[in-house]
Amino acid sequence: MRFVTPLAAGAAIWLCAALNGASAQDLNVLCGVDEDWCSTMETAFEAETGLEVAMERRSTGEILDQIRSERDNPHIDVWWGGTGDTHLQAAGEDLLETYTPAHGGDALPWAQNFFQMSGGKASGVYAGALGFAYNADILDARDISTPSCWKDLTDPRYRGLVLMANPKSSGTAFTVLATLIQLLGEEEAFAYLAALAHNIPEFTTSGAAPVKAAARGKTGIGISFIHDAVTQKLAGAPLVIVAPCEGTGYEIGAVSIVRGAKNLASAHRFVDFAMSPEGQATGAASGQNQIPSNARAALPPAAPDISLIRMVDYDFATFGSPDQRRKLLDRFDREVLQGTGSALTQ
Ligand code: PLP
Repeated sequence: MRFVTPLAAGAAIWLCAALNGASAQDLNVLCGVDEDWCSTMETAFEAETGLEVAMERRSTGEILDQIRSERDNPHIDVWWGGTGDTHLQAAGEDLLETYTPAHGGDALPWAQNFFQMSGGKASGVYAGALGFAYNADILDARDISTPSCWKDLTDPRYRGLVLMANPKSSGTAFTVLATLIQLLGEEEAFAYLAALAHNIPEFTTSGAAPVKAAARGKTGIGISFIHDAVTQKLAGAPLVIVAPCEGTGYEIGAVSIVRGAKNLASAHRFVDFAMSPEGQATGAASGQNQIPSNARAALPPAAPDISLIRMVDYDFATFGSPDQRRKLLDRFDREVLQGTGSALTQ
C-alpha cells in the first residue's frame, strides 16, 4: 500500500485549486466604492473576524457583467457598494441570494424600502445625491461664467470641458441617465445627452473619475455624486459643488451576496458587518461622505445635507429592472456614443 505524505497531499490540493482558478481566500468581494474605502473595509473586516478577504475595486456595471459571466460557477461571493439600481437589476436576473442581515432592523426607512424592493436580495448601505462640481480656477482662467443647472452644461462655452462616465460601466452615470429621464422625460433626456456629448471629450469608466479630474485641473466640470466631490474638496481641490437647479437624483449604495456563493457563511458575516455601525464607520474613516443607512451609525461630519437638495422621487423599481437597463444602454450607445462619435476611455 502506498501512503501520500501530508506535504504531497498539500501540494495536490494547491495544484487543484490553482488549476480551478480558486483562491485560498475565505471570501471574494468585488467592491464598488472608492478604492480607499475598499481597503479600509477589507482591513476592518479581517480584524473583526480573522477571515482573509480578497477584495477588488470595479465600477458597478463591470461588477454586474462579471457576476453574470460567472452565473454557473461563481468565484465572487459578495458585491459590496455601487449603485442600488444595478443590484436590483442583478436581483431581477436571479443572480443574488436572499439574506436578511443582522442590524437590518436599525436600517433607516429608505434602506428598509430598498431591501423590500429587492425581494430580500440587496441591502442599502448608504445614500448620496448626484450633481456636478467645477474647478473654479479653470473656469476663472478662461473667463467663463459658471454653471448652476443641468441645462447650462450643454452650452458651447463648455466645449471639451465636461466629463461624465459611461453608464454601461458606471453606476454613477447610469444614475445620471435615470435622473435625466425622470426630470425631462425619455425623449428630451436623450436629446439633452446628445447635446451634452458635444462638450464631453471622453466618457470615463469609473463614476468618480470626472470629479477627480476636475479636482486635479484636468477638466473644468465633472458630473459625479456630490459626496465624491466633497471628498475632493476637503482634500484641498478648488471645486465648487453644484446641486443642479432643476433637481437631481440619488443613489442607494447596496451590498448583496452572489447566488451560489461558495463561501456563504463568510458572506453572511461580511453583509452583517457592512450593515453594522462599526462597518459603516469605515466610510468616514477613509474620508468618504455618503449617508450611512444604519440609524446608529455616525454621519460623516461633511456629509451633504440631502434634505436641502431638490430631489426627484427616484423610481428604483423602474430603473432597477433588467429590461430598462438593456433598453437605455442600447439607446445611449446608439444616440449618444455612436451618434456623436464620442470616444470611450478610462
Ligand atoms: N464612488 C462612490 C463614492 C460611490 O458612492 C459610488 C456609487 O455607489 C461609486 C463610486 C460608483 O462607482 P461607479 O460609478 O464607477 O460604478
